[in-house]
Amino acid sequence: MYRVIINEKLCIGSSNCMEEAPDAYEVDERGIAVLVASSQPSDEALLRGARACPVDAIQLFDEAGRRVHP
Ligand code: SF4
Repeated sequence: MYRVIINEKLCIGSSNCMEEAPDAYEVDERGIAVLVASSQPSDEALLRGARACPVDAIQLFDEAGRRVHP
């Protein structure tokens, strides 16, 4: 599974990530995206949601630490 960093300062709570990948991302009570705690999302779902973010608030890294997105 990719390592995920959600930049809370960038996130504007638009929910695009959640709409594209509801098994990976949700928007919490603060209006900030978080990973769905009970889920083991696929890399494909993580990437699909990250690509939907209009402000590139979701960074993904592979197991070697290489940046996958953005
Ligand atoms: S798509 Fe981006 S800005 Fe919108 S809730 Fe998800 S992380 Fe935040």
